[in-house]
Amino acid sequence: MSEARVAPNGGLYIHIPFCVHKCAYCDFYSVSDLNLKPAFLKALSAEIAAAEAGPPLFDTIYFGGGTPSILDPAEVERIIDQLKSKFRLAGALEVTLEANPGTVDADNLKGFRSAGVNRLNLGIQSFREENLRRLGRIHSAGQAHDAVAAAHRAGFANVGLDLIYGLPGQTVSAWTMDIESALAYDPEHLACYMLSVEPGTPLAEEQRLGRFRPAPDEDTAGLFMATSELLTGCGYHHYEISNFARGAASGGDSRASRHNSKYWAYAPYLGFGPAAHSFQPPRRFWNHRDVRGYIAEIAAGRRPPGGTETLTVDQHMLEVVMLGLRTSAGIDRADFKVRFGRDFRDLYGAVADELAARGLLTLDNGRCAPTRQGMLFLNTVVAALTGN
Ligand code: SF4
Repeated sequence: MSEARVAPNGGLYIHIPFCVHKCAYCDFYSVSDLNLKPAFLKALSAEIAAAEAGPPLFDTIYFGGGTPSILDPAEVERIIDQLKSKFRLAGALEVTLEANPGTVDADNLKGFRSAGVNRLNLGIQSFREENLRRLGRIHSAGQAHDAVAAAHRAGFANVGLDLIYGLPGQTVSAWTMDIESALAYDPEHLACYMLSVEPGTPLAEEQRLGRFRPAPDEDTAGLFMATSELLTGCGYHHYEISNFARGAASGGDSRASRHNSKYWAYAPYLGFGPAAHSFQPPRRFWNHRDVRGYIAEIAAGRRPPGGTETLTVDQHMLEVVMLGLRTSAGIDRADFKVRFGRDFRDLYGAVADELAARGLLTLDNGRCAPTRQGMLFLNTVVAALTGN
C-alpha cells in the first residue's frame, strides 16, 4: 500500500469520562462519580507520559467526553502543558474544549481561554425548554443563552454550537426557530445532529416501553434538507453531513473543525482516557471503557487495552470511501490512486456514474462527492458503491 502524497498532521484527543447526569439519548462513555476525578487525572498523565512521542506533527488538541468543562481550568492547562512538552506540536494549534452550558460560567470560561483553549464547542442541543427536558439535559434554555454570551465575553473567537433535531412531532418551523436562536449569536460553527436511539440508553428503554416513538424517516429527512438549505443560505459551508462552518470550504479562514476533519480525512490521531481511540494507519487501537479499570491498569504499569486491529488494504479502501462520502469534499481520486495504486474509476466508475445520474453524487474536478441528497441517503450510496 503506498502512502498519501503529503503526510497529514495528526490530532490529539483527550476523553474526559465524567458527566453530571446522563442524557437520555447518549451512549458516549461517562460516569457521574466525580470522586474518581483525581485518580483519573493522575492515570491520564501517566498514560500520556508513557505514549510514544514519534511522528507525526500534531496540530489539534480536542477535549471531548463526557463533559470536559467539569475540569477546572488549571487541570486543563496542566494537560495542555504536558501534551506540549511530550509531542511535536504545530505553532498554529487548534485546541477545542467541549462544554455543557450547565457547567460553565464567566470565571471558568475565562480560565479555559487563558489555559490555551481557543475553540469552544457548546453542547446546546436546543434553546427550547421542552426539548431540553425531553433530552434529559441538565441545563435550561436560559443557561444555554447565557453560556454563549459568556463564551464571547471570555474572549472566544471560535465558538461552535451543537444542536439536536428529529424529536417526535418536531416541525420544520419549530426546528427553524431553534436554529435561528443559534444564528443570533453568529457562531463560527454549527453541528446539527439527527436524534438517534442508541442501544442501552434510557431513550431505547423508553422506546421499548412504548413511551417514546422516534420521528418517521420522512420527517427527519425534511428536517435535514431544511437545515442544509437554511444554513448554506446564511453563508455556512455544509462540509460534513452534520457539520456547518463559516469561512471558505478549506484553507486558512475555514472554521471547520480541524480536529474532527482528521477522522473523515483518514489522518492519524492519538487518544487518551477511557474509551479513547487512536489511529496510526493502518493500525487502530482503543482503550477500554471502564474508568475504574483504566485507572487500575495504568497504576499497574500497563496500557488499558480495549482492542486493536490492523486494516487490510480492502478495509482501508472501504473506510476511505465511507468516510470521504460523509464530506462535501468527497474522495480525491488522485489521492486514492496514490494511497492504493488503484484507479477509483476502475473500481467504482460504473456505479458512481449511475449514482451521479440519480443526483446523489458529483464527479467533477477529480473528486467523487455527495450531493445534499446523497448525504441524506449516505447508506444507500455507500452500499451501492461498495456492496457493503
Ligand atoms: S453531557 Fe454530553 S456526554 Fe454527557 S451524557 Fe449528555 S450528551 Fe452524553
